[in-house]
Amino acid sequence: MPDQTIEEQNIDPFKPYKGRFKSYHQIPEKGRAQKDIFSELSTMSEEENAKWKNGKVSGTFYHAADEHRAFLNNVFSLFSHVNVIQADLCPSMSKFESEIVSMAASILHADAVKKVNPEDTVCGTVTSGGTESIIMAMKVYRDHAYKEKGITAPEIIKPKTAHPAFDKAGGYFGIKVVDIPVELPDFRVDPNAVASAINKNTVAIIGSAGNYPYGLIDPLEELSEIALAHDIGFHVDGCLGGFILPWIEKLGYNIPIFDFRLPGVTSMSADTHKYGFGLKGTSVVLYRNKNLRKYQYFNVPDFPGGIYVSPSSSGSRSGGLTASTWASMVYLGEEGYMKAAREIMTVADKIKQGIDDIPELLLIGEPTFVISFRSKEIDVFHVNDFMKTKGWRFNVLQLPPALHFCVTMPQTQVPGIADQLINDLHSGVEYAKSKSGTVAETTALYGMAGTVESNQMVSELLYGYLDYFYTVV
Ligand SMILES: *Cc1c(COP(=O)(O)O)cnc(C)c1O
Repeated sequence: MPDQTIEEQNIDPFKPYKGRFKSYHQIPEKGRAQKDIFSELSTMSEEENAKWKNGKVSGTFYHAADEHRAFLNNVFSLFSHVNVIQADLCPSMSKFESEIVSMAASILHADAVKKVNPEDTVCGTVTSGGTESIIMAMKVYRDHAYKEKGITAPEIIKPKTAHPAFDKAGGYFGIKVVDIPVELPDFRVDPNAVASAINKNTVAIIGSAGNYPYGLIDPLEELSEIALAHDIGFHVDGCLGGFILPWIEKLGYNIPIFDFRLPGVTSMSADTHKYGFGLKGTSVVLYRNKNLRKYQYFNVPDFPGGIYVSPSSSGSRSGGLTASTWASMVYLGEEGYMKAAREIMTVADKIKQGIDDIPELLLIGEPTFVISFRSKEIDVFHVNDFMKTKGWRFNVLQLPPALHFCVTMPQTQVPGIADQLINDLHSGVEYAKSKSGTVAETTALYGMAGTVESNQMVSELLYGYLDYFYTVV
């Protein structure tokens, strides 16, 4: 039996500080003492850190070793007041950003594009995160196709498992997003289904390396050929895998080619704030050539406030984030990234094997650093209920119901964490069996979406949650 029910554990998970620390509806009339503020925030930070430092949280906290973070915070403080776009005053920003892009491009085999076309040079920009990288690339395909092919009703095609940032781009920029279902048993998109969905308005197709739900790599080689045959864009979303798959491949794991070595790949996204181990708030978007990148840029030559030009959808950006991202990359170096990848894969391999040995649980696809599983016999949402009572935070997947654990550095810091996870999973499976025929607490939200009506209900719930998030209590 779980130690507590979900309700007991999370009375109000989003507002635990209500009544404990003073709430502010307005700016306080008199400022507070720095010491006092710092002490209050330290309390929050320490309590929140305790939730993941035990290694029980999937993803989210990628490096987070105190020493690494302290170094980045120190670097951040040198440039925290700097605006990246003020390059004339702070030329360090141009150095950092150009080098971040170049270093990212090099691990994703930018050198390979010259062999296909000597005139191509991989280039890109730094953005505020994976979402901005993705929506920028989709804007590029829309504008490129309009300008160079006259397409006025652009469409992109993506596997259903590709990140919602693509849907966001579609929503923001008026691009139709065509979803291709990802079928059992291997949970990867069928390239033939993608090819069949291409029409005269298709501006780009999408693949992930790996995708968020299962961490799996789409059949990118086939998708690359399809993109070339139709002369359309092909974006590989490496937000999650871009800064770890290159090292996993070097470690000798069997990883299919996922980057600019594929001749059809025209853009990629890779998140420095995930496995790049930078502070939160940066990512890189890369293009096969400068002609594509040009469509990301924006300018207003006749703005009364001066000639305006901007590389991405952000305006001002933090020089601190740029500097600390650069510092993370050169501090770790290939050696540091390889070491991290090795440690992560050691834990991930153990978890994968342990799950494979539990007869009721089915691994999804060929996992690497994200391990996802489902079950034909028990309700994995019951398993999740149980794991929550043990302090674990899995990511809940739906359609079909499944769970995943994304291994990051915190797991490598806690000896025996994989065994602990597997032991608890065994108990979770027993718990799920004992609850057979009842509705899991996790099902209250997950397991609802799917039909048009139920999606509408979920939408209202989610927007209610956002309203609540922005409510002062
Ligand atoms: C995290 C992620 C994104 C989006 O990145 P954000 O940094 O959260 O905006 C896109 N694709 C994949 C596969 C991801 O894991």
